[in-house]
Amino acid sequence: MSETKYLKIGEKKRCSGCTACVAICPKKCITMQADEEGFLYPAVNITACIQCSKCVRVCPYTDSEFTNKPEEEELSICYAAYNKDEEIRYKSASGGMFRVFADRIIAEGGVVFGAAFDKDFAVEHTYAETLQGLTVFMGSKYLQSRMGDTFILVKQFLKEGRKVLFTGCGCQIAGLKRYLKSDDANLFCIDLICHGSDSPKIWLNYLHS
Ligand SMILES: Cc1cc2nc3c(=O)[nH]c(=O)nc-3n(C[C@H](O)[C@H](O)[C@H](O)COP(=O)(O)OP(=O)(O)OC[C@H]3O[C@@H](n4cnc5c(N)ncnc54)[C@H](O)[C@@H]3O)c2cc1C
Repeated sequence: MSETKYLKIGEKKRCSGCTACVAICPKKCITMQADEEGFLYPAVNITACIQCSKCVRVCPYTDSEFTNKPEEEELSICYAAYNKDEEIRYKSASGGMFRVFADRIIAEGGVVFGAAFDKDFAVEHTYAETLQGLTVFMGSKYLQSRMGDTFILVKQFLKEGRKVLFTGCGCQIAGLKRYLKSDDANLFCIDLICHGSDSPKIWLNYLHS
C-alpha cells in the first residue's frame, strides 16, 4: 500500500490553526497535524486533493494583513464591565462577563461554544445547551484549543434557526466568519484579549512532572 503524502499549507507565521480550511474542504482531505512543539497546523493529503483552492480562499490571511492594533472605531466606543455575581467572578479569569452573555443565549434556547479541558487536560472546543454545561468553559486555558468539527456544527445550528454564541480567540472567530461567509443575525461572537497560546509540549511536560 502506498504511503499517504501530506503537504503543509502556507507558512506558519501566516497560519493561526483556525481550521476554516479543514471545515470547507469538499474532499475532507485536510487534517490538523502537530509540529515539533505540538502546535496544530493544517496538512493536505495531496492524493485526495482536487485543487479546488477553497482552502486558500477561506483563509483569513489570504487577503488581509493582521494587526494587533484596535481599529479606530473600536477605540471610540469602549465599555468596561464585570459580572456582579461574586461566585462566578472567582471562577472566571477576568470579571466573568462571558457568563452574562452565555446565560442569556441559553435562556433564549441557543447554543454556546467555548474551550474546555478534556479528560486528558488537552483543550478542545465544544458546545453547551444548558447553564450547567457552561461551567467547563469558565476560566482561561492558555493552550491552542482543538476545533474538531466546531465550524461545521456552528453552521448546522444556525441553519436550524438557533442562536449561537461562539467564544474563543480572535483568530478562531476570523476563521469562523470566513467559513460561514454570510453575517447571520443569530450568530454572536466574543473573542478574548489574547497574546497567543503557550507551547503544548511544555504543557505536557508540566502535566507529567
Ligand atoms: C490563550 C489565551 C491568551 C490570553 N491572553 C491574554 C492577554 O494577553 N491579556 C489579558 O489581559 N488576558 C489574556 N487572556 C485572558 C482572557 O482575555 C480572559 O480569560 C477573558 O477576558 C475571560 O474573561 P471572562 O472572565 O469573562 O471569562 P472566563 O470565564 O474566565 O473565560 C471563559 C472564556 O474563555 C474562553 N477560553 C478559555 N480558554 C480558551 C482557549 N484556550 N481558547 C479559546 N477560548 C478560550 C472560553 O471559551 C470562554 O469563552 C488570555 C486567555 C487565553 C485563553
